[in-house]
Amino acid sequence: MDFKNITVAGSGVLGSQIAFQTAFHGYNVSVYDINDEALEKAKKRLNGLKDVYAEYFKDEEKASAALKRFTFSSNLKDAVKDADLLIESVPEIVEIKTNFYKELATVAPEKTVFASNSSTMLPSQFAEYTGRPEKFLALHFANEVWKNNTAEVMGHSGTDKQYEEQLIEFARTIGMIPLHILKEQPGYILNSLLVPLLNAGQTLLAKGVADPETIDKTWMLATGAPMGPFAILDVVGLQTAYNIVSNEAKHNPAAQPIADLLKNEYLDKGKTGKGSGEGFYKYPNPAYLDPAFLKA
Ligand code: NAD
Repeated sequence: MDFKNITVAGSGVLGSQIAFQTAFHGYNVSVYDINDEALEKAKKRLNGLKDVYAEYFKDEEKASAALKRFTFSSNLKDAVKDADLLIESVPEIVEIKTNFYKELATVAPEKTVFASNSSTMLPSQFAEYTGRPEKFLALHFANEVWKNNTAEVMGHSGTDKQYEEQLIEFARTIGMIPLHILKEQPGYILNSLLVPLLNAGQTLLAKGVADPETIDKTWMLATGAPMGPFAILDVVGLQTAYNIVSNEAKHNPAAQPIADLLKNEYLDKGKTGKGSGEGFYKYPNPAYLDPAFLKA
């Protein structure tokens, strides 16, 4: 792997974090977004991330040096002209990603490997538009990249394995823990495990089997996990949980009572999770963090 120049396309929440993490580890990073206004926002985000990295890693000098490694462009051909690797982090909307790859295919140098950071879409959905399906795969990051270091590497059936190996190595060089997914899987590893756990917890609650604290306590005591499903839901945010479950309810009536419960008992009362100060628990000192929680 001899990547030097990385292009990050889409400089929103995750794109700006991926760009900063990559520059922080010494790569030149070309930031692409749709127009100058979006690029101005990106500059503000990256400046904010400089402070976050300086504080988190206690290294102001290294964080400031990262800021000098960025270039910005709203012209895709220009943004990608030297790219060894392009990481796509544009909105999670099929048409936007499809059109993006169609254009990218016509302007990117032959050497450029394309990686998608999509959370819910599969590389096989876009491979045909890339003009280089063998050099196209997913490289999926988690929000707050600097401390949540997962990098899920997942090809589609037509990805050449050598590029999976290259991305695994690249991920390591930017301080991530590469997690190699051997076969295309919606939700990667994390959400394939987490979503069923969260659903199961909510189903127990909606059926009246137990309250959130008892359900979390059971999971924590029996497995040694630091959080149960309801503590995790508070971090995810109850609006997101509601969106997922209401979608599910369209074809699975069993999900409707969960959606109703989230709406009536929590969202309508302003309890949207950790971000608002209250969800299933009250913050900043939720009961599950009290050492007495697992003793009573
Ligand atoms: P966001 O809305 O914050 O950012 C999207 C960026 O893409 C914006 O800067 C926007 O101007 C830009 N954009 C819009 N159209 C574009 C186009 N045609 N070409 C290039 N750029 C365009 O979104 P986000 O939360 O950063 O998500 C981006 C991707 O990252 C999605 O695929 C999402 O699934 C994935 N992701 C998000 C998270 C998360 O927690 N937010 C976590 C992991 C992965």
